Amino acid sequence: MTTLAQPLTAAPVDPLADAHAQLASAVELLGYDDGMFALLVRPRREVTVAVPLRRDDGQIEVLVGHRVQHNLSRGPAKGGLRFSPDVSLDEVRALAMWMTWKCALLDVPYGGAKGGVRIDPKLYSLAELERVTRRYTSEISPLIGPERDIPAPDVGTDERTMAWLMDTYSVQHGHTVLGVTTGKPLSLGGSRGRATATSQGVVHVALAALRERGIEPGRATAAVQGFGKVGRHAARFLARAGLRVLAVSDQYGAVAAEAGLDLAALEAHVDAHGTVVGFPGGDAIDRDAVLELPTDLLVPAAVEGAIHAGNAHRVRARVVVEGANGPTTREADEILEAQGTLVVPDILANAGGVIVSYFEWVQANQAYWWSADDVESRLEERMLQAWRQVLDHSRHLGVPLRTAATAMAVERVAQAHLQRGLYP
Ligand code: GLU
Repeated sequence: MTTLAQPLTAAPVDPLADAHAQLASAVELLGYDDGMFALLVRPRREVTVAVPLRRDDGQIEVLVGHRVQHNLSRGPAKGGLRFSPDVSLDEVRALAMWMTWKCALLDVPYGGAKGGVRIDPKLYSLAELERVTRRYTSEISPLIGPERDIPAPDVGTDERTMAWLMDTYSVQHGHTVLGVTTGKPLSLGGSRGRATATSQGVVHVALAALRERGIEPGRATAAVQGFGKVGRHAARFLARAGLRVLAVSDQYGAVAAEAGLDLAALEAHVDAHGTVVGFPGGDAIDRDAVLELPTDLLVPAAVEGAIHAGNAHRVRARVVVEGANGPTTREADEILEAQGTLVVPDILANAGGVIVSYFEWVQANQAYWWSADDVESRLEERMLQAWRQVLDHSRHLGVPLRTAATAMAVERVAQAHLQRGLYP
């Protein structure tokens, strides 16, 4: 039996402070005043709700949930719902702000939001998780809706969670409202390609970033931190693109193979055992060692703050593509920049998920379903277009990709505020 490992972060991380500092630099770069910073730094709306749960044994437990709508200037709020023991209001605020920039950067017509319930889903039965989802949905239902705020899966939630959320909202409204959430099962108005969209987007920009550094993907090596919704498919797509995936980790441990891992066999092992640990096709290595291998590419696809001031100088990958939200702290960013590591920021690298969420919402609103090819080619086009825009902007300004991407996004949101004017 595998015991629960320590949290993935080894140093204190403060995603909200990092998000605020990123915004402050972008505002300064763009020459906006303090008023604009004040408009953009504070979430537009946030709610904290009690989520009472009747456990299977009859005991009552009261959980805490949040929904933060950071910005609504470009359209309805959009962003995932997270079930994790690490959820806090400040974490959700940071993640909501990053969603605003992500949507603006990819030019999908949304503001940014995020939700979370402080719960370790592994410790609860399916029936309990269903009750938590339904009660949380009911508590935040005055805020959400296809034209208001559209949740999606995130850490600890999946398409089943979205089906419960959609059903709860629909029952309350007396009719089926497919557009209230994205990341739903295919049979309930989900989009083809949504489940793998984030990973596909990560791989599109990873291949482009490797080429930008003069590295031919067919001869490149990779390490992937995290084997959940993002890391698992990303590892497979990287291998399919010809990279040798030398190591992957999950929260329990990591495995490595010099010749490259057999990812189909590894996925079968994870399906059977719930962890990469014990995979016979590789050697067990220290969980956090995946971040420090001398690979061409590193994809941190777990949680915030994985690369921090304490380990950034040991990161030897030449290109880091952020599958997770906020995996590199601000201090680590500076260390990686000084080392010459190319970091493709989260708001670009992992935007494939929200792009196909947007496609799903459009399909639901029109009740017309696209083919997998349609979804995949439009996703690739948007990812590569954004990659080229961010790369050009970063060269033009002589700044790292994250600074360029954040500035582009902040400018679009600020323009929306300026054009709409201030009411009253
Ligand atoms: N949770 C994902 C993210 O962080 C997807 C959000 C969405 O599709 O709305 O980007």
